[in-house]
Amino acid sequence: MFSQSEKLFKESQALIPGGVNSPVRAFRAVGGTPIFFREGKGAWLTDVDGNRYVDYVGSWGPMILGHAHPEVIAAVQETAARSLSFGAPTGLELELAALLTRLVPSMEQVRLVSSGTEATMSAIRLARGFTGRNKIIKFEGCYHGHGDALLVKAGSGALTFGNPSSAGVPPQVAADTLVLDYNSMAQIETTFAQLGDELAAVIIEPVAGNMNFVMPSLEYLRRLRELCSKHGTVLIFDEVMTGFRVGLGGAQAVFGIQPDLTTLGKVMGGGLPAAAFGGRRDIMAALAPLGAVYQAGTLSGNPVAVAAGLATLRAVSAPGFFDKLAATTSEMLRGLKREAAAAGLPFATQSLGGMFGLFFSDKAPTDFKEVMQSDKDRFNQFFHAMLRRGVYLAPSAFEAGFVSAAHGAPEIEHTLAAAQAAFAEIRH
Ligand SMILES: *Cc1c(COP(=O)(O)O)cnc(C)c1O
Repeated sequence: MFSQSEKLFKESQALIPGGVNSPVRAFRAVGGTPIFFREGKGAWLTDVDGNRYVDYVGSWGPMILGHAHPEVIAAVQETAARSLSFGAPTGLELELAALLTRLVPSMEQVRLVSSGTEATMSAIRLARGFTGRNKIIKFEGCYHGHGDALLVKAGSGALTFGNPSSAGVPPQVAADTLVLDYNSMAQIETTFAQLGDELAAVIIEPVAGNMNFVMPSLEYLRRLRELCSKHGTVLIFDEVMTGFRVGLGGAQAVFGIQPDLTTLGKVMGGGLPAAAFGGRRDIMAALAPLGAVYQAGTLSGNPVAVAAGLATLRAVSAPGFFDKLAATTSEMLRGLKREAAAAGLPFATQSLGGMFGLFFSDKAPTDFKEVMQSDKDRFNQFFHAMLRRGVYLAPSAFEAGFVSAAHGAPEIEHTLAAAQAAFAEIRH
């Protein structure tokens, strides 16, 4: 069934480390061979062996309109025909900046970059430059790209500074990053009481999507906002995943909380490399060429990527877009729960907008430790049982899932029929 993928994977491993250009693609968590894709249309993917799948990865979030959406493809083709890059300002960038600042009003100014990693790295540097402080807080299980200061895990014991979570990250860089438990009110209270006036920034995924899917408590986000305001600490919402995904204005609109800086990526590029960071005008003024914080990019604001982003954001701005997306997501998850219950399996789900989590446990987790307690082996069996039946889930129990506007009744029906058989298969 997967012979062409197996062949390509074998050859790729000789030339590309691990055969992949981003580690999770290697299927190490679930075992087996990564699927090599040939094309995608709407909610469906076709692999190099000709197998078809309903796609719940969506390139890890960007493909909110489904694959090869005609308006996005047309915008890309028209723009590409007028040159791929200038390395100089364009009117398209201004259009995108106007749309972003309108849809996410906490962003008074915005700078375009090419990846979520660049956006978060730059936002951290900006917060440090603006405040003149070095220490930052991140949360266990949240991912903010692969910048050095953010590849940090908790040190031993509460309230100790972090250790590098990757070789090659200098311990002194990690030493300025404090890692706390997501949703732990007690930890943020204690930390701000001790160190508040030394903290440059708090960076958080306002809905966590890189440890499967974990909802924040509203009270917790509100308290973070208060503490940051009180101590002059820059609150950064990393909405690279949640922006234009959980709702039109991102998680900040859903919860009604204004961060000082926001990072965006994924959906905002519609499948091409466009990302952004932005926020309070006084903070953004610290950025070169106005201010002393340096940040730059040869391909930043690339016209083709910007055109794909604009076409995507215009489509998701249509009235009712997110209501329909959320309804599709909920309906699919209700069906999965029903099938799991019929098979007698513990199973919980969570979702917001077009983003969801699946857990082989009795209840949805609230932090990283609880996520780790869900049954990973059972997820891995389920993943493969679904894959063989034409449903492509993220190849890890620690990733969120994504539904697109192209998913509808036929896709849900296909998914639930596959799930019924898959749950029966893995029950024992
Ligand atoms: C994906 C992601 C990033 C990194 O974005 P890249 O474009 O992969 O560099 C950063 N933060 C969050 C919350 C993400 O989900």
